[in-house]
Amino acid sequence: QSGVSARKDGTVNVTLEDIGGLENIKEDLDEIIRFLKDPTTFTKVGAKPPKGILMEGGPGVGKTLLAKAIAGEAKVPFYSMAGSEFVEIIVGVGAARVRDLFKRARLNAPCLIFVDEIDALGTARASAGTRGTEEHEQTLNQLLTEMDGFTPDTGVVFIGATNRADLLDPALLRPGRFDRKIEVNKPNVDARQKILQIHLSKRNVNPDIDTARLARNLPGMTGAEIASVVNEAAVHCVRREGSQIEEEDVMYGSDRVLYGVRGKAHDKD
Ligand code: ATP
Repeated sequence: QSGVSARKDGTVNVTLEDIGGLENIKEDLDEIIRFLKDPTTFTKVGAKPPKGILMEGGPGVGKTLLAKAIAGEAKVPFYSMAGSEFVEIIVGVGAARVRDLFKRARLNAPCLIFVDEIDALGTARASAGTRGTEEHEQTLNQLLTEMDGFTPDTGVVFIGATNRADLLDPALLRPGRFDRKIEVNKPNVDARQKILQIHLSKRNVNPDIDTARLARNLPGMTGAEIASVVNEAAVHCVRREGSQIEEEDVMYGSDRVLYGVRGKAHDKD
C-alpha cells in the first residue's frame, strides 16, 4: 500500500501531499490537525474541538489515506482497526476490543483512532439478524460509551469510515458522536492526473510522459485502482527490461486493472 509504514511509536509517514485531489476536504482538515498537534490551544479558550468524524465513500477512494495523513501531519500515533475485527460470536469479546483500543489511545494521546468498515459494528440493530445480536449490541454500546466519554482534554480524534452511511445505527449518528461528516468521492480527471503523478513520482519514469492524457484514459477509476495501474506498469516495465516507465506501460497497467487480463492492444510480449 503505497510504501506507507507505521513507525515504532505508532506514527505514520503520510502527509497531505501524498493525496491527489480531494482539495476541499484537505482544507477542512486543518482544524483537526491543529487540534491534534496541540489540544491545549483549544481547551484553553474553551473551543469545542472535533472529536468524531465519519468518512463516507466507496472502496479505494482514499478514506484510510486521509485519516493517515491527518495523523501524519500532526505527528501523532495512528491506531486503526477494521469494524469486522470487532465482530465476534462470543459475547463480550468485541466490547473488550473496543475498550482496549480506546484505552491504548487515551494513554498515548494526542492521537487518532481510525475504524474502517464501521458499519460492521454499527449497523442498524434491526438488520443485524438474530445470531450474535447480543454480542453486536454490547460492542456497539461500548463504542458509544467510549465516544461519549471523550472530552476535549482527552486529545483523541475518532474517525470512522464506511461505504454505507445509510446502514449505520442512528445512535452512532446522534449529535455529539460524529460531529462531522466527510464525503469522499471518486477523483475527476484532474485529481486522477495528480494521483497518477504521486504514484509515478516514487518510480523511475520517463519525464516526458503525458499524465494528462493518461488520466483521461482512466475513466471512473479510484485512487486505489490508479495505484494498482502504476504498480502493474512498473511490473510491465521490468518484464520488457525497460529502464523507465513509459506511457505504454501505464496503458498496459490500465488494461490489466480494468479487465484483469493482459491487455491485447498494448501487449507486445
Ligand atoms: P476501503 O473503503 O476499501 O478501505 P479507502 O477509501 O480507505 O478504501 P485507501 O485505503 O485510502 O482507500 O486507498 C488505498 C490506496 O489507494 C492508498 O493507500 C493509496 O495508495 C491509493 N489512493 C487512494 N486514494 C488516493 C488519492 N486520492 N491519492 C493518492 N493515492 C490514493
